[in-house]
Amino acid sequence: MAGKVFVRTHGCQMNEYDSSRMLDLLRDSHGLEPTGDEGDADVILLNTCSIREKAQEKVFSELGRYRQLKARRPDLIIGVGGCVASQEGDAIAARAPFVDLVFGPQTLHRLPELIDARRASSGPTTVVDVSFPEIEKFDRLPEPQAEGPTAFVSVMEGCSKYCTFCVVPYTRGEEVSRPLDDVLVECVDLAAQGVREINLLGQNVNAYRGPTADGGIADLAELITYVASIDGIDRIRFTTSHPVEFSDSLIDVYATVPELVSHLHLPVQSGSDRILALMKRGHTALEYKAKIRRLRKLRPDISISSDFIVGFPGERERDFEATMQLIEDVGFDTSFSFIYSARPGTPAADLPDDTPMEDKKARLQRLQQRIRNHALQISRTMVGSQARILVTGPARKDPGELQGRTENNRVVNFRPPAGVDPAALVGSFVDVEIVEALPNSLRGAFLAGEAREVMAS
Ligand code: SAM
Repeated sequence: MAGKVFVRTHGCQMNEYDSSRMLDLLRDSHGLEPTGDEGDADVILLNTCSIREKAQEKVFSELGRYRQLKARRPDLIIGVGGCVASQEGDAIAARAPFVDLVFGPQTLHRLPELIDARRASSGPTTVVDVSFPEIEKFDRLPEPQAEGPTAFVSVMEGCSKYCTFCVVPYTRGEEVSRPLDDVLVECVDLAAQGVREINLLGQNVNAYRGPTADGGIADLAELITYVASIDGIDRIRFTTSHPVEFSDSLIDVYATVPELVSHLHLPVQSGSDRILALMKRGHTALEYKAKIRRLRKLRPDISISSDFIVGFPGERERDFEATMQLIEDVGFDTSFSFIYSARPGTPAADLPDDTPMEDKKARLQRLQQRIRNHALQISRTMVGSQARILVTGPARKDPGELQGRTENNRVVNFRPPAGVDPAALVGSFVDVEIVEALPNSLRGAFLAGEAREVMAS
């Protein structure tokens, strides 16, 4: 069945990764080519997110649009995957009977069979498979194709922390890690395709406990050390982490592995010990700061970003002030922050919540303003310094310029030097001087490139 597939992705980087794998899979199994135009697609897949109510509601409004497409083209296959699918299962078929497939994050590798089953059935049936067959998914996915110099590699799935606000353990299942060798083989393959930066992915990636060939278990610290030894891999990131799993062995790796970037994303959610306990986070604000202090002894310039939830049930003004104090103490770089969204089935959804939404919104604004100020301050301190950036492609606004990323994930736009083929610089590291800090990017002046690219021109 040749044709085209359109995938709409909501939510986290794990979902982005899963969507790319779906495209690889359907190209291999059914010869389906990706399209950016849903009106042109034979298969439409919606990869959903249920972390907050808003994300979940988007799914049903989007499905309303697809229903009209399906009315015009009854052969069109519409599939709903991701965490909403996992949570709602058959309820999606009941609410939107024109949906052909419902599959979860752990069954997306079965898409080819699900499509065949749907095509083979007559009448309006929805094929639903939202089971949790653990790690089978990774054994069944085709080898990833590099899409540039950076790549995500999923190393574990799910979460076993059961924070009281979070749906992830219920939608993605408990923590399951891929075997160490499987992850390394994927990284070696990607390096052979020109990838220079690997982002190790997982809902709780620092809870990684991958089985090794000799019957042992490797943690994230060991995995990072191995990945760093792969020829061609010069930068390693990992997303996203839980503070209780931010172990001493992982902190020590910052002293021994220069490929590990000087940027850490470590979600804290709140600076109030009372709220942290209600969230069942398993640590205090002081314990969080102690970990950051240890890390900064090894990497004084490391930038730290985080996730915050504002307006958790029962959050009082003084709890919020404790969060603002933590932000001041740590000096967080660009971070993600959200108003608490009650998720059905999670313990926090039953907690009394008497804070007016107006107050929550005002707190969120104050918090975001404080973080923006910090981020801009960090950018300004970079002006005049030299930065090594990985060139990812042409600049967005001016295609005559190139764009790259610093270790702390800032976009730097710069003009390639005269006489050098810009295309030859893409995928390589260059040194730039940071000459200007803008709200969402930096401006750089080219200093030097890796010898092979500059000589290739
Ligand atoms: N594993 C990491 C941790 O718990 O520290 C974060 C993973 S979580 C999938 C991504 C982020 O979504 C969380 O850090 C949190 O800030 C946000 N989030 C999760 N549940 C939420 C909820 N019910 N309301 C608002 N934000 C939520």
